[in-house]
Amino acid sequence: MDDDMEKNQTYSAKKCPECMAHIPADAVVCPSCKRRIGKRSDTGMAKKAIDWKSYIMLIISWAAFAFYMWWAFFRK
Ligand SMILES: [Zn+2]
Repeated sequence: MDDDMEKNQTYSAKKCPECMAHIPADAVVCPSCKRRIGKRSDTGMAKKAIDWKSYIMLIISWAAFAFYMWWAFFRK
């Protein structure tokens, strides 16, 4: 089937969400801008890699805030 051939070819590449460069679909780092990128999405764009560092920092800052609120208002 010619259609399947075409599909396979488009699935072998994805677009970097940071610099819009076309890169191999299995690449985890963009060869153009060196950023970490995720898997290919349905639109042909690479998903942005999850930024665990900022995610964890967000959780820590919320936990610190919650602890401060407890410390400031609910401590006996
Ligand atoms: Zn890039």
